[in-house]
Amino acid sequence: MKILISADMEGATGVTWPADVLPGTPQWERCRSMFTSDVNAAVLGFHDGGADQVVINEAHWSMRNLLLERLDSRAEMLTGRHKTLSMVEGVQHGDVDGIAFVGYHTGAGTEGVLAHTYLANSITGVWVNGVRASEGLLNAHVVAEYGVPVVLVTGDDLTCVDAAGYAPDAVTVAVKDHVSRYAAVCRTPARTAADIRAAAKEAAALAVRYEPVRGGPFTVELEFDAEHLAMTATVVPGVEQCGERRVAYTSETMYEGIRAFKAVTTVVSAAVEEQYG
Ligand SMILES: [Zn+2]
Repeated sequence: MKILISADMEGATGVTWPADVLPGTPQWERCRSMFTSDVNAAVLGFHDGGADQVVINEAHWSMRNLLLERLDSRAEMLTGRHKTLSMVEGVQHGDVDGIAFVGYHTGAGTEGVLAHTYLANSITGVWVNGVRASEGLLNAHVVAEYGVPVVLVTGDDLTCVDAAGYAPDAVTVAVKDHVSRYAAVCRTPARTAADIRAAAKEAAALAVRYEPVRGGPFTVELEFDAEHLAMTATVVPGVEQCGERRVAYTSETMYEGIRAFKAVTTVVSAAVEEQYG
């Protein structure tokens, strides 16, 4: 049994503040240790549950956050950025039986600790076929096309509620309870590691590959915090402005959909100007 862990950081133990997840800050140095603790707990739990191989795909920012030297020796880690499937890179090779979303968070424009969808502020909402989308939901559509079930999701309590929408069978662990976008009641790394390890052991039983699901076509709609960002996004072929600050495009598969999303966010990021956005 091979498990892939997609590891994002905003939903990690103890994380509630932008500097906590911003590489290079003293707070990030401290929080990456708690993030590593969460991920390692999942590695241990999946092995407890019978996994032979657990591969971690770093999925936050520059995708260089986890402390490899603190992981269980059975783990393997894909670190660094620029990957075909970004946050779920590695799921496409036909040998993954289940995927875990560790350290995930809620989507742009919704309640939740450090809620956002890819771009921290510029994107104020994403919808897939009319349904409000988090990164978890987008990635769940991608992995379904490879027949890989989402078996475990960790993050704040609202991330667990979100996961119930896109992966109703997944085991969830809330490592903190949302108070505001920048505040949460946090549980200690010792406590959350025990919770995640037990949940991952349970989740291993759900790691059974199924026939790939083609859920498309997918119409992806994005809303930005400024009109010129919507206009800028339309340089990507197939992307059309559908409102003052909104664009939409349609893809037959979410493989294409997530790659178009990457193109849009890359182009839009380049158009965000100092202070005014
Ligand atoms: Zn994220």
